[in-house]
Amino acid sequence: MVPAESLVKKSGKSIATALASENATIKEKRPRKIVIIPIVAKSVEYEVLKAIGAHIEDFYSKFNFSTKIIPKISIRPFLEAYNEFRGQFLGRVFLYRLATIRVNLKVEAVLGVTDVDLYESGLNFIFGLANPYLGSAIISLHRLKPEFYGNDEDDELLKERAIKEAMHELGHVFGLEHCKDIKCVMHFSNSIADTDLKGKNYCERCEKELEQKLGWAK
Ligand SMILES: [Zn+2]
Ligand SMILES: [Zn+2]
Repeated sequence: MVPAESLVKKSGKSIATALASENATIKEKRPRKIVIIPIVAKSVEYEVLKAIGAHIEDFYSKFNFSTKIIPKISIRPFLEAYNEFRGQFLGRVFLYRLATIRVNLKVEAVLGVTDVDLYESGLNFIFGLANPYLGSAIISLHRLKPEFYGNDEDDELLKERAIKEAMHELGHVFGLEHCKDIKCVMHFSNSIADTDLKGKNYCERCEKELEQKLGWAK
């Protein structure tokens, strides 16, 4: 949700250079992987991770991606992202750490799913964040839970919202920007009402662009 450019500058040239050569080979027809990493303070429901993984795999398999959920990791290594005055975690810190994990795993993309509340400079909160140069994305379930808004728990609604945010941030990872179509998953969510209004998939135009960026489709 934050312009990728501001993060790229901070990430330094060395990472960008290393990834540039990697991106040159991304168009080759070879198995590719998206890894989902639960980053847990209290709990991230496995059912939600499974729903995200299934939807992502369903869509991205046409680009030869498979999806894997790896065992949860603790929020502890991310505590430097914590702002005690806000009671929230700075999103970009997750992207850097996740990018390191991605390089170690030798995969194309990593998606962190956390239960802590995220923010970025200039924004009260963010549902998620991504950076195409780092190949990493993070989403927070905190404000996707109906109970955050004083409503009853609803696992199906939570899964649907999480799928939308995951597809949105992965779209950014693969180079998509925000879309004007309010039903497209790449539409910017300013509030949970925007998230609920949009669909779980890319509009025709965004999907075409994704095909160009990912090089080929089965
Ligand atoms: Zn966005
Ligand atoms: Zn679109």
